[in-house]
Amino acid sequence: MTSTVPMNESLYDILGVGKDATEKEIQRAFRKLALKFHPDRNKEDPSASEKFKKVSEAYDILKDPEKRKAYDAGGMSGVYGTGYEGFADSEAAYAQFGDLFADLFGNRPRTRRAGPVAGQDLRFVLTVDFRSSAIGGKSSFEAPIPSVCGDCRGSGALGGGPSQVCEVCGGSGQIARQSAERGGYFTVASPCSACRGTGFKGESCRKCNGQGRIETTRTITVTIPAGIESGQVLRLRGQGQAGLRGGVQGDLLIEIKVAKDPVFQRDGRNIRSNIHVPLVTALLGGKIEVETVRGSVTMTVPAGTSSDQVLRIRGQGIQAKSTQGDHLVRIVVDVPKKAFTDEEQRQLRNQLGS
Ligand SMILES: [Zn+2]
Ligand SMILES: [Zn+2]
Repeated sequence: MTSTVPMNESLYDILGVGKDATEKEIQRAFRKLALKFHPDRNKEDPSASEKFKKVSEAYDILKDPEKRKAYDAGGMSGVYGTGYEGFADSEAAYAQFGDLFADLFGNRPRTRRAGPVAGQDLRFVLTVDFRSSAIGGKSSFEAPIPSVCGDCRGSGALGGGPSQVCEVCGGSGQIARQSAERGGYFTVASPCSACRGTGFKGESCRKCNGQGRIETTRTITVTIPAGIESGQVLRLRGQGQAGLRGGVQGDLLIEIKVAKDPVFQRDGRNIRSNIHVPLVTALLGGKIEVETVRGSVTMTVPAGTSSDQVLRIRGQGIQAKSTQGDHLVRIVVDVPKKAFTDEEQRQLRNQLGS
């Protein structure tokens, strides 16, 4: 957050010229220093790019008669008063004065073509019913998924040409501007005016506003593996946000939530449920229909079964890779709320032996 051009350092000193230097002298001095501190020549020295930026800013101000006048009259405060924004970084400084070096450095193209951008992973929560979680199934849902804009084929440029990175902001879409506040200078990021914050040169595609993607609603069909539990995440590769300019498509992450079931509860690999059995069946034994996740099953209730006894139906539990869990049925004996006559009561007591 420091100004590259310190208040106590003269711009003329930075360039090593006198206050009465001509435009030509200023340009010559700048070229010499800019070459000396050029980032391409000083890969080992990280401070060089800051120095490059500093001499670039000094030159940027002094080469402009209006800004130079403001500087001579009021120093840096005077220059910032003209709306001068400085450079975000040495890249931005280079972009501004790239012409001066075009003949000296052949390895850096003047305009960079925008590179591939990978699509992002998208996360959704999918609620599945208990039955599907137990034995597997399929589930579909509608999801908003950004896909490549058809008008510009993802370039973001009007007409679909290759999108060129904005030289002024280096593609970030922002310019760090120095603002004078409370006696110091602070760096404030504001949208790049050259590219209106898009990071790209030229006119933007109207359909996607230069984003290269538009939101589309897609039907996603998910295969639910048997035995899945709440909190598990399924990854659908390459079905997320579209990549741009050859970038890979992101993934879809589907977080599973198993809905509560009014009948079934999961217990590891087993499934539990309650079943109401008439008193007579519990006393004398008999057959009863039990609902399982695979449908109705006839279960034998042995004579003399009491409430809270648990009967096991093998193989009707959670489907697992090698084995299958069981269905555990807790018996609830229904005692009839019927009024018995004295004679009926006597007979029942005799028969049941109490
Ligand atoms: Zn577009
Ligand atoms: Zn820009």
